Amino acid sequence: MDWKPSRQAALDQLFTFIPKAGKTYAAERNFDLGEGLHEGVSQLSPWIRNRMLLEEEVLAQTLSKHSFASAEKFISEVFWRGYFKGWLEHRPEVWARYRTNLTDYVKQLEQDTSLLQRYETAVEGTTGIAAFDYWVRELTQTGYLHNHARMWFASIWIFTLELPWELGADLFYRHLLDGDAASNTCSWRWVGGLHTKGKTYAAQASNIERFTNGRFDVTGLAIKTSPLQEPPLPAPSELSLDKGRGNLLPGKVGLILTEEDCSPDRLPLTTAPSAILALLDPSPRSVLASSSKVEAFSRQCVSEAAQLASARWGADCQKSSDSNWNEVITDWVNQHNLAALVTARIPIGPTRKRLTRACRELTIPLLEVTRPYDALVWPHTKAGFFALRKKLPSILSQLDLGQLEV
Ligand SMILES: Cc1cc2nc3c(=O)[nH]c(=O)nc-3n(C[C@H](O)[C@H](O)[C@H](O)COP(=O)(O)OP(=O)(O)OC[C@H]3O[C@@H](n4cnc5c(N)ncnc54)[C@H](O)[C@@H]3O)c2cc1C
Repeated sequence: MDWKPSRQAALDQLFTFIPKAGKTYAAERNFDLGEGLHEGVSQLSPWIRNRMLLEEEVLAQTLSKHSFASAEKFISEVFWRGYFKGWLEHRPEVWARYRTNLTDYVKQLEQDTSLLQRYETAVEGTTGIAAFDYWVRELTQTGYLHNHARMWFASIWIFTLELPWELGADLFYRHLLDGDAASNTCSWRWVGGLHTKGKTYAAQASNIERFTNGRFDVTGLAIKTSPLQEPPLPAPSELSLDKGRGNLLPGKVGLILTEEDCSPDRLPLTTAPSAILALLDPSPRSVLASSSKVEAFSRQCVSEAAQLASARWGADCQKSSDSNWNEVITDWVNQHNLAALVTARIPIGPTRKRLTRACRELTIPLLEVTRPYDALVWPHTKAGFFALRKKLPSILSQLDLGQLEV
């Protein structure tokens, strides 16, 4: 599988997969047959992560070929992404703590030789746990891991290798093409027993053997998986979900594109932008370097988004690879004499912080437009996934998927 950073490649993969999104997916999704053999799952996550492909498009195609009942498993997996995105939006503290702890652990690696040695053994794939060592190589070489492998990997990292979960989450985030602040952080917390309080995910040798079709015979995994602990979190914060609705803005409007949303041609804008700025420089995912594959994928997605936006809005489009967003945006605003800026709502993560800082000194407003999908999903993401799952039929009918053109 080659994840090309283009809308056409995303659509090709979507149409290849859709016939299997019903009962076949439910039966095969847990099997990890190895690198290049992940046909049991959609492998759409890198495009969905950058919103080169929208969740509602995936759902519309699924429901055009399958009933809700037969594709329920796949549909609910698609909603897990929105669930984690919304859950983290309600809890910015979780992201802030993760970043602080990660920075502390990276500093600790410089002083604590025992921790450094155990960490290096894991990230170099020389632990002697053949399955784990295989997955490290697959992750770093391809930028993708099967969901089941991610669960086993995280569990072995936390409970068998006894390494800090934040360092493992960081390794994933820097190497996964679909690396996402919410899905990744929340999934690692879920494995460690922090998301569903007290419930951990224990990787078991028999389960690995069965779902890898006997490729791995693992021994020595931790038997005890006591939940990780953390100080209590603040109550979930309220979200403003009508952000950008009816976005009629005065004067000339500039549209900003980032790696967080590469479908600007399908963004509900009521004011046509007169200038477009594509910020190609990827936001650093960590204090450590991200893989060059991840950076190239992200850069190319934004570049393609610029073409889509240009074709849709017919406005002057500038692509910038400069890392100094503040300077780039200020010059562009002055050059086009803009009165307001608009962008797709930026979720929690490094891009939000970076763009907010870059626009802090501007005297014109930056309006973030919340997509209708997020506005429908996020209100049901304050607690467990079950609350959202109950709402799926109602959300799907409100999305009016039959009207969506892909
Ligand atoms: C430790 C760990 C870390 C993870 N990190 C990420 C991450 O950084 N980014 C990411 O997108 N997913 C992450 N996931 C979730 C999941 O593993 C991937 O979304 C999935 O493997 C992508 O492959 P696919 O597109 O073939 O998924 P499919 O099974 O075909 O599912 C279709 C789509 O639904 C969404 N989805 C499916 N399962 C999940 C899930 N459990 N949580 C959230 N969304 C889901 C994805 O957008 C996916 O593309 C992580 C899971 C674990 C256990």
